[in-house]
Amino acid sequence: MSDYRAPVEDMDFVLQHVVNVGRFADFEPFSHVDAREIAGLLDEAGRFFSEVVAPTNRIGDTQGSQRNADGSVTTPDGVADAYRKLVDAGWGAIAFDPEYGGGGFPWVIGIAVQEMLTSANMGFSLCPLLTQGAIHALDVHGSAQQKLDWVPKMVTGEWTGTMNLTEPHAGSDVGALTSKAERRDDGTYGITGQKIFITWGEHDVADNIVHLVLARTADAPPGTKGISLFIVPKFLLNDDGTPGERNTLECVSLEHKLGIHCSPTAVMSFDDATGYLIGEEQTGMRSMFTMMNSARLSVGLEGLAVAERSYQQATQYAFERTQGARPDRAKGESAPIVEHPDVRRMLLTIKAYIEAMRCLCYLNAAALDDGHHAADAEARAAGIELAEVLTPLSKAWCTDLGNELTSLGVQVHGGMGFIEETGAAQHLRDIRIGAIYEGTNGIQAIDLIGRKLPMRDGAAIGDLLDQAEQLANSLTGDLVTFTQPLLDGVAAARQAGDWLLANRGDDSLAGATAYLRLLATVIGGWLMTKSAVAAQTELANGATGDQADFYEQKLVTTEFYVTQLLPSQFGLLPSITGGFDLIGAFQPAG
Ligand SMILES: Cc1cc2nc3c(=O)[nH]c(=O)nc-3n(C[C@H](O)[C@H](O)[C@H](O)COP(=O)(O)OP(=O)(O)OC[C@H]3O[C@@H](n4cnc5c(N)ncnc54)[C@H](O)[C@@H]3O)c2cc1C
Repeated sequence: MSDYRAPVEDMDFVLQHVVNVGRFADFEPFSHVDAREIAGLLDEAGRFFSEVVAPTNRIGDTQGSQRNADGSVTTPDGVADAYRKLVDAGWGAIAFDPEYGGGGFPWVIGIAVQEMLTSANMGFSLCPLLTQGAIHALDVHGSAQQKLDWVPKMVTGEWTGTMNLTEPHAGSDVGALTSKAERRDDGTYGITGQKIFITWGEHDVADNIVHLVLARTADAPPGTKGISLFIVPKFLLNDDGTPGERNTLECVSLEHKLGIHCSPTAVMSFDDATGYLIGEEQTGMRSMFTMMNSARLSVGLEGLAVAERSYQQATQYAFERTQGARPDRAKGESAPIVEHPDVRRMLLTIKAYIEAMRCLCYLNAAALDDGHHAADAEARAAGIELAEVLTPLSKAWCTDLGNELTSLGVQVHGGMGFIEETGAAQHLRDIRIGAIYEGTNGIQAIDLIGRKLPMRDGAAIGDLLDQAEQLANSLTGDLVTFTQPLLDGVAAARQAGDWLLANRGDDSLAGATAYLRLLATVIGGWLMTKSAVAAQTELANGATGDQADFYEQKLVTTEFYVTQLLPSQFGLLPSITGGFDLIGAFQPAG
């Protein structure tokens, strides 16, 4: 298993030049944030995650979390200790409100730190990820007392959170769930039902687990409209706020999975467990969406983070492994495989996509910061709209790419990639789930064409494409090589979007996934071109030494992305506009 080194230079580059993080200093809650100090902060975080969390990745996979006979769960050796160190260091709390004990940084800085946590150990990272989602739901929809009771300990990480939606017959169709909530005289509810696939549903790393559970009251209408959301803690609280009596819920088994073995995926049984209603009855889906939108960006980030770890490992291997001849080497001398054009192409493909994904995910997070904290209402509305458009792209594109790029990481290793001992395969196994949970990528594509594309009659996405077009037309010097592919990408995305808006129903549903891929690749092309302009400017301003090397490499990866990877996706147009007839004519034997 390779070491992990946080790619701080690229993170800081994206924050400064793509997201323009410095502007957040004008936002009242972030006036203490000095953009010039962010690289130092990321360096410090990078050291922590490399030294404390990354070493748990391998044992997390090989040992996995285990359920004991009494229903308790033991996490792999070293995980509880690393978690306690994370809580003590406060890295999980960095982007939360200081009122709750958080660090008060913009969400986009929190996302950069979360990328490191996820690269260090994806299975481990899911515990803070789910907690974050639960905090968001409580912060937006909980009562003042609920916030006081639960949120501060969740922000520090002393207590963790979960999200209990899925039931055996209710997965993508959450509205089919049947867990029951019975109103009691004291205002609490008795929650009864079984939930499956509950991430970090039971464990030994924290003193309490705050389950957020979707259930249905007796008189609720069917479907999503009738769902309510409840806080159902593992331990009820004593009068002084400390964990007390054990609630009547338990982990009845853990799933055996393809990857993320460190993360205990629990089947949870609730037997008249005490629950506290969040918001009003039958508004549960709204609260759950707050939680899921937060989690969807974080899951997209997993694609980026695990691809980064896989890339670092593959690169190291490509320098160490010698095989085959090269014209510039002595006769009979084996060359490191990194010298072979095909291996180098694989590494460059991974690296270029990683950089594009980082731009997209960070822009998505920054849009959330704008949406919540910008001074004027118009800017807040624009931030929310941008975040809504980008979220399905971040979630689905980055996790699809995470799958493809970690597979390339295995390929770079040749046969040793297929052998578990190298650890290259773990990245591929771990990220496989990213395309499935938090709404499958198919559901993300449906969200994109059904809800996001029609926003302002297509103008929400159209405005982004306009910005890409303007940038393409403004390029000068060497960067004019970016102009035509970017303009072609914009034209293809426009043509596809127009067709989907004009052809609703099964015709557009059949093209949704291909459209998501095309649109995300084009948005990635726009952001990579922005990166190239910034790198060129820094070089023109006299950057030297390591910095100049970094900017020159940035010009290589961005040019490769825009002139080679982007055009490779234009062939998706026939899939987007092909309609349903041919697909419908296919009759799989059932
Ligand atoms: C490791 C792991 C961790 C998880 N963690 C959690 C958790 O913490 N909390 C939680 O509540 N859940 C969790 N889940 C559940 C996860 O969110 C669901 O598995 C996911 O939403 C898909 O639901 P499903 O498995 O029932 O698949 P299904 O809904 O049965 O989908 C099967 C296939 O059909 C497609 N499909 C379904 N409906 C449609 C449609 N309308 N249109 C087009 N295609 C469709 C899907 O895209 C998919 O390809 C987890 C799952 C796993 C495996």
